[in-house]
Amino acid sequence: MIRSIADLTGIDPARLRELDEHENARFVAERPRSMANTERARRTMPRGVPMSWMDDLYEHPPVWASQGTDARFTDVDGHEYLDLYIADMSAFCGHGARPVVEAVAARIGAGNQFLLAGEDAIVVAEHLVSRYGMPKWQFTLSATQANTEVIRLARHATGREVVVVFDGKYHGHGDATLVTLDDGTVVREYDGLPASVAGQARIVPFNDPDAVARALAPLDVAVVLTEPAMTNAGFILPEPGFHEALRRLTREAGTLLAIDETHTLVCAYGGLAREFGLKPDVLVVGKSIAAGVPLGAYGMTDDVAALIHQPDVSYVVSGSVAGEVATGGTLFANALSMSAGRAALVEVLTPDAFQRTGTIGARMADGLRAAIAAAGLRWCVAQYGAQYGAHGCSFFAPTPPRNGAESRDADDPTLRALTRVYLANRGIWESGWWLGPTVSVAHTAADVDEYVARFRDLLADLTAPPGG
Ligand code: PMP
Repeated sequence: MIRSIADLTGIDPARLRELDEHENARFVAERPRSMANTERARRTMPRGVPMSWMDDLYEHPPVWASQGTDARFTDVDGHEYLDLYIADMSAFCGHGARPVVEAVAARIGAGNQFLLAGEDAIVVAEHLVSRYGMPKWQFTLSATQANTEVIRLARHATGREVVVVFDGKYHGHGDATLVTLDDGTVVREYDGLPASVAGQARIVPFNDPDAVARALAPLDVAVVLTEPAMTNAGFILPEPGFHEALRRLTREAGTLLAIDETHTLVCAYGGLAREFGLKPDVLVVGKSIAAGVPLGAYGMTDDVAALIHQPDVSYVVSGSVAGEVATGGTLFANALSMSAGRAALVEVLTPDAFQRTGTIGARMADGLRAAIAAAGLRWCVAQYGAQYGAHGCSFFAPTPPRNGAESRDADDPTLRALTRVYLANRGIWESGWWLGPTVSVAHTAADVDEYVARFRDLLADLTAPPGG
């Protein structure tokens, strides 16, 4: 018998439809200025937004933001939101974190861009070495660009082209990882990508060492790129032994192992890779490391770092340099980003801050679990206690998924979208899809209690009879 999604979630589809219509209509009616802004912006920007995700990430129409302080921000219609999405984890330092505001203000007044190194870079690199345990670092403006450079370095190091990623992954909008499975075949994930990306990638299930071994067997894989725990298909922790197998298999196959810590760095002071004792060849960070001021970075072993050497051939006529891996950009490692990174890493993202976010994250998860139990639903919350900190994710299923396919099977996009809009109508900003909530450095226990109380209201409304 094929199980329906309503059987899994325990929510009556008629009730779901009814609430969905009501909450979406309310959302639009209460935000006239945001709606007018989008209409006006349609004349100058596709979809009425400056960047397509600002429309894409949410099922409801775009909201226009005005300002943020600590764990809250307001929109142009004057609604205040308690922010549990924190800009896809990039606002983990909280909105307007004082040390970052002061550092950035001082820096911009003293010149922000020279295309020369400044001393903040040394402090940041030294900090990253001791924090994440990788001996050498380079900087970009985003995690996407860091992953892009990492893949180039791996291809250069190995003389191979294939990239292995895990089903349900996201590593940014770089061509090489924008692939997905269509009935078991790797295909381009979006329009506009060259057909060749599909042939240069393999996608395997997380937590499946045998599948990794099969993917590496042809000995043509340059790099396996993975998060320590997957965050872009819900929150999926590695099973015992999985990472050890991954490291052993990549070594045996002559393949580099790159860990993307961009999201999971919110889970522990030294990131989850360090927490799990992983030994990658490259480690990528971004988003929150400079409090949302553009900065990405990758740490690497000395062997990988040796690939970024001075070319022995001088400039050729076209202006390009022979014998050099393609890295860098005019604004990468600019003085403003580095000053923000220094203040965020050293003064905001402290061991004490992680102790607090861990405790509050566990409190949030316990509260969500209690709310689910009180509503008589068989959902679960993936949050792994104070040890792994700030991030959690609920699933409409009794046990957390082990991989991307299981996560998709447990998802009900309508219920997910309703959760968002329902909470937004009550002053809570949740993730646009199944990322799940993250508490920031600025959240308090009272904040997560408020979130849990609204979540409880949602479950009460969802489990009421239609027309209730
Ligand atoms: N890596 C991971 C794991 C991510 O989740 C994301 C963004 N969601 C990125 C990289 C890319 O980050 P950015 O868009 O800031 O380049």
